Amino acid sequence: MKIEKMLKRYRVDHGQHFRLKDHDPADTHGLESELKPQAKELLASGVQELSRLQDVLAAQDGWGLLLIFQAMDAAGKDGTIKHVMSGVNPQGVQVWSFKAPSAEELQHGYLWRTMKAMPERGHIGIFNRSYYEEVLVVRVHPQILESQKLPKSLVTKHIWQERFEDINNFERYLTRNGTAVVKFFLHVSKKEQKRRFMERLDTPDKNWKFSSSDVKERQCWDEYQEAYEDMIGHTASEHAPWYVVPADNKWFTRLVVSQAVVDALKGMNLKYPKVSGVERAALAEARRQLKGE
Ligand code: ATP
Ligand code: MG
Repeated sequence: MKIEKMLKRYRVDHGQHFRLKDHDPADTHGLESELKPQAKELLASGVQELSRLQDVLAAQDGWGLLLIFQAMDAAGKDGTIKHVMSGVNPQGVQVWSFKAPSAEELQHGYLWRTMKAMPERGHIGIFNRSYYEEVLVVRVHPQILESQKLPKSLVTKHIWQERFEDINNFERYLTRNGTAVVKFFLHVSKKEQKRRFMERLDTPDKNWKFSSSDVKERQCWDEYQEAYEDMIGHTASEHAPWYVVPADNKWFTRLVVSQAVVDALKGMNLKYPKVSGVERAALAEARRQLKGE
């Protein structure tokens, strides 16, 4: 299927020369007329494949998979997570939404709460926002950094570079210990974000989704885009790639994300565990006993 091949276009696995402006939020790979009418079926088959692979992942109990979602407000994180993970066994998935750190969390380094949320072997963990906020919202609003209780001498102009390094090392550690890491930036345009905010304001059933702080963050749009660009440029790697997913068209966002998750699971070469000779004999014995009842 074409969609598998096109994945490459959105995958960033080395950050050198990464420019956000090279990525169009409205991009549909020129497949709008071809793919959109069958988007539902394609997503359904992606979800089915994902569900099959998740079963093997759990059976094998070696690898875990961490999916990270970052985006501006209204880019579709929640909906994408909901649709892409709709067919998977809830026992094998955990979703964590990271909000501003609590007083207890601020008593520790920023990876402390992350560690506690990591998926176990055989599971898929989804981070709805993540430690990447530490180089996004914290960077755009320096007063947040001031509230982090870091010793003054440690807060220098190198802090963002240092955080990128620590994040890269952390992700290296994760992947070396059997947790694959795939990161998604849902790339929405400023125009489409406005349209979605207006829709939330105009539709009573969507009013609850609207938060006036979202409009305040929108005022820092350019600062955020710069922070995202720098972040992806410094933290994209072969072992923990970013997908910069066009997010102006929800059907396309979901297709790309589901395919990328399938691709990550396929890359693990998962197989159902084979039973040994001794275990096979035990199975034969169990069969004999059941038959004899
Ligand atoms: P929705 O899209 O449904 O509104 P959300 O992810 O925006 O979901 P909110 O409760 O609206 O959820 O926002 C969470 C807030 O927590 C965001 O503004 C985010 O920037 C902030 N946040 C997350 N992690 C950190 C962090 N490490 N430091 C400071 N703020 C953080
Ligand atoms: Mg929000």
